[in-house]
Amino acid sequence: MRKPKRIVAVGPVKLGGFHPIVVQSMTKTKTHDVSKTIRQIRRLERARCEIVRVAVVNRDDAAALKKIKQSIGIPLVADIHFDYRLALKAIEAGVDKIRINPGNIGDARKIAAITKRAQDKNIPIRVGVNSGSLPRTVLMKFKHPTARAIVETVRRCLDTFRRNRFYNIVISAKGADVGSTIEAYTMIDKNFQYPLHLGITEAGLPFRGGIKSAVGLGILLHQGIGDTIRVSLTGDPVLEVVAAFEILHALELRKEHPVLISCPMCGRCEVALEKIARNVDRRLAQYNRNIKVAVMGCVVNGPGEAREADFGIACGKHRGIIFAKGKELKRVRESQLVDALFEVIDENINH
Ligand code: SF4
Repeated sequence: MRKPKRIVAVGPVKLGGFHPIVVQSMTKTKTHDVSKTIRQIRRLERARCEIVRVAVVNRDDAAALKKIKQSIGIPLVADIHFDYRLALKAIEAGVDKIRINPGNIGDARKIAAITKRAQDKNIPIRVGVNSGSLPRTVLMKFKHPTARAIVETVRRCLDTFRRNRFYNIVISAKGADVGSTIEAYTMIDKNFQYPLHLGITEAGLPFRGGIKSAVGLGILLHQGIGDTIRVSLTGDPVLEVVAAFEILHALELRKEHPVLISCPMCGRCEVALEKIARNVDRRLAQYNRNIKVAVMGCVVNGPGEAREADFGIACGKHRGIIFAKGKELKRVRESQLVDALFEVIDENINH
């Protein structure tokens, strides 16, 4: 059961409370390359990304934020390490949130300067604690970057923010592996009221990284922990968004988009099912409705599963049956199956 957290607004997008779990991603471009960054963010927007973060590494990146912000439709987050002056510049440029790692920003005076400017502009700060950059005093106390060491670091950061009367906060805490990340988030969820940004750091290339993220985020989300997620993958950030929605769909935490179920195929299948499923998947990406579509390979389980879905195909030998809302509608040849399915979907919904 999800415990409602304090509500934090990132532009028009709300985190916490009972708001839907928000999907975010991060650009891979040099932020000062404004046109490339905007192009990548627009691709993310088309993939339904809801918040985007950019790395602000130097003054050129900070100077690019205003133009980027003006050219996109989703909230913009500036990701800052080391130099608190970049955080001040990013806030001035009008970003909707900043992410800092207090472990490398420096002394309390610098944190105070950031919180004051964020307070003036009424934007939240994500306190992003990583096991790789815990303060020396914490490491001395705990010996290793354990989940408890991460939680202690979060607690100390929040104390600093509290001294500055700053409460517009989102927390993230990334361990060195899936187990310690789960442990750290579970403790943080119990102890603090701020919304949680979930991520499995350095997850890897899309296939393995997607699985690792699905395991880590899935366990936390299933326990009701988390308010926004990023699936970190090496490669195209659009895949991060696709993977994030797949995780949320699998847990039925977001239901706005179509879900395709397709059978794994076996020796009974007598059509090119993988090709059919891929075509259906590609065309379904254009739809903004919560519909369940089944693509099944044979008559053993096919008709039953296809009847359970809103729309479905159950295949036979080089042909198949189209179902809608549990009713068999037509029998068509294999080459016509996908078109026939979408004719039926379009007749039944407005997309
Ligand atoms: S639906 Fe048919 S083809 Fe697909 S896995 Fe099941 S038995 Fe095999």
